[in-house]
Amino acid sequence: MPELPEVETTRLGLLPHVQGRRVAGVVLHRPDLRWPIPDAVQSLLPGQRIHAIRRRAKYLLLDTAAGSALLHLGMTGSLRVLPRDTPLRLHDHVEIALYPASGIPGQVLRFNDPRRFGCLLWQSPGETHPLLARLGPEPLSPEGTSCGASEAFSGDYLFARSRGRNAPVKTFLMDQAVVVGVGNIYAAEALFRAGISPLREAGSISKARYRLLADAVTAILTHAIQRGGTTLRDFISPDGAPGYFEQELLAYGRGGEACLRCGRRLRQALIGQRTSVWCGHCQR
Ligand SMILES: [Zn+2]
Repeated sequence: MPELPEVETTRLGLLPHVQGRRVAGVVLHRPDLRWPIPDAVQSLLPGQRIHAIRRRAKYLLLDTAAGSALLHLGMTGSLRVLPRDTPLRLHDHVEIALYPASGIPGQVLRFNDPRRFGCLLWQSPGETHPLLARLGPEPLSPEGTSCGASEAFSGDYLFARSRGRNAPVKTFLMDQAVVVGVGNIYAAEALFRAGISPLREAGSISKARYRLLADAVTAILTHAIQRGGTTLRDFISPDGAPGYFEQELLAYGRGGEACLRCGRRLRQALIGQRTSVWCGHCQR
């Protein structure tokens, strides 16, 4: 499943090809993905110039003066910019044709999604789509408010938000209303690096330890995005699969193996229905 770093890498990969381009037309090969595709996508997007590509949580927004196309990659979605005559592949559901620009021939932005858990929706100018309305701050946006959240992500923020919460800290950290984009993999890795047991009650952790945790979240996501730079070519290759990152994971997926810090066997259990791995010795 694309996590925040893959979505951010998709955004960075699309940016030079799509930003500033004018939409020539929209072709829908089916009327819906996870949800019906609103009429506005076909009626309002053609003729518009895409002046920015933004990311909020794992959503991508193609901004135009008429509104924003709101995309989510779901479990298996990918976006690629291709020559306009590239033959359709199985599961290519949406085509956004781009007019030629200075020195660049006409191209098409294609959305492919075998399992169709992705979506293409519409956000009118000045509005916030309901899916984006209650999201917490971006973990990589220390100024916070630039992403539409009212507070900035930090250890002090996590500490304040967690008071009175008796949920396990891992569940708290994966709550999109608390902070966006920390999926199962990154929650496990961040808690390992911060030395915090995923089972500990969120409300019982000190401010100092939340500062370590916030730093770990930021460092892990930043590192993953930097590694993603090597997969950018996949987004313009006609036959390349979308690039997900080889990751150096210290905890996730290593249940039963030796802790890389102390050598003891890593524990594995379900926490909030999600598989979790941690070291009972290094994480308290
Ligand atoms: Zn250990």
